[in-house]
Amino acid sequence: MSHKHRDTEYPKGLTEVFDTHAHLYDARIFDDAEGVLERALECGVDTILIPADNEATSRLAVEYVQKWDGYKGIDIHCSVGVHPHEASSYTEDTEAFLRDMLSKRDRYKIKAIGEIGLDYYYDLSPREVQREVFKKQLKLAYELDIPFILHERDAAQDCLDILLEAKKEGILLETPGVCHCCTCSAEIAKQLIKLGFYIGFDGPLTFKNNKKTPRTLEVCPLERIVVETDSPYLAPEPNRGKNNEPAFVPFVVEKVAQLKGMTSQEVARITKDNGKQLFRII
Ligand SMILES: [Zn+2]
Repeated sequence: MSHKHRDTEYPKGLTEVFDTHAHLYDARIFDDAEGVLERALECGVDTILIPADNEATSRLAVEYVQKWDGYKGIDIHCSVGVHPHEASSYTEDTEAFLRDMLSKRDRYKIKAIGEIGLDYYYDLSPREVQREVFKKQLKLAYELDIPFILHERDAAQDCLDILLEAKKEGILLETPGVCHCCTCSAEIAKQLIKLGFYIGFDGPLTFKNNKKTPRTLEVCPLERIVVETDSPYLAPEPNRGKNNEPAFVPFVVEKVAQLKGMTSQEVARITKDNGKQLFRII
């Protein structure tokens, strides 16, 4: 179901695919926006959500939607928020900025706060600051009744502790959001699902040496799975190592289908519905 084009494979044959996580404003793919969207549509991707990681990319995500949403019918949404890498930059002004953007969420098609969370792999902000900024934005999501996009790397237990605490305090929505680019164990995923989270799967699910993520997928009920690219990072097989783009998300769909014993088209349709439920896209 794919054909070769300049050494890159483009999956064909699916419709109704929702890439729930693509940084389309990233310099590596931004200049070719028209090509990126054309190829996405050719590969059956009709809905995309662009996540942000700081104040600047929140603006870029909103601008991208303003400029490109509706191009040949494609449905593009976005989020605003501060990534754990950037937690040190979070000030009262940042929060005021997020509140201002979120007050116009319908006009700007902002469907979530994110990415937020903890990243102890890179440790680009002190862990204490990461936890504090995560909690602040998690509270904001509850107050404004909007889901969040969780980024967690090598910090699963601390992340879960914060979420359980928030649940106890009554400041976690019934559907809090999505654990994006899931790298966690099956055990942690089960607990996140119990808390109401969706789980996002990306290119690494397709990597030949990755035994852990397929096992995690196994414990996730299909109605809680969404698919993502995390463009321009983490391109799936057979395009591993190239710049990633939404056109490649059907390769993730195919892998989910193979592991769940279903057709790719069924998985595409169901994961798209899941994404729309999660981000309240009517
Ligand atoms: Zn991302």
